Amino acid sequence: SKTHRLDRFISQNSAFSMSDTRLLIAQKRIFLDGCVAQSIQQQVTEFTQVVLDGQCLKDKEPVYIMLNKPRGVVSATKDAKHPTVLDLIQHPQKSELHIAGRLDFNTTGLILLSNDGAWSRKISLPETKLAKTYEVTLAKPVGDEYAEVFRKGIYFAYENITTRPACLEVLSDFAVRLTLVEGKYHQVKRMFGYFQNQVLALHRISVGSITLAGLGVGESRVLTAEKLGGTL
Ligand code: URA
Repeated sequence: SKTHRLDRFISQNSAFSMSDTRLLIAQKRIFLDGCVAQSIQQQVTEFTQVVLDGQCLKDKEPVYIMLNKPRGVVSATKDAKHPTVLDLIQHPQKSELHIAGRLDFNTTGLILLSNDGAWSRKISLPETKLAKTYEVTLAKPVGDEYAEVFRKGIYFAYENITTRPACLEVLSDFAVRLTLVEGKYHQVKRMFGYFQNQVLALHRISVGSITLAGLGVGESRVLTAEKLGGTL
């Protein structure tokens, strides 16, 4: 992903030059993610919020795109072997986009892309408690005890965390709808792994108020600010 030195970022996104940046830092006029900038060499990524004189610096107009990800597509902007979600998108600002909440290679469904790092970070933070809903197909029948265990949370030793309360809705013996407010690595698969129940298919149907509704496999659509309303 794109990272820039702070002085380069300032020169590309404000009226100031690279060499002005040192003075701006000394005058404490630049903030990175809420902290006063320290050095022209600090790295700025698409997730960094850069504020100069109280104004948020943005590369370009914000763009928000939803995609119905097919199986066998990588949630990355580049991959040597497989098609990426970016390959499925046609947009003039395509090169600025990053993925806001990845899905596994074989997971399908709603994935969001944007050039607005503050927004992406916000929707990914567990503190935002944004609901992400998945349809899950299992190898074995779902037991009565699952819902309670998922509601209480499952301990993940590797991260030393307990998953936040998740809501399980049983659709049939082998199919459920699961709503999470976070997205740890392989979270859904690991939650069912707790019961030694393998996930055969995983499909994300919504993130906050954004739903796949009507979007075909591999299709994408630009989201307007109004559409995002509830999700910001
Ligand atoms: N949980 C998973 O295990 N995989 C995904 O792609 C998303 C959530």
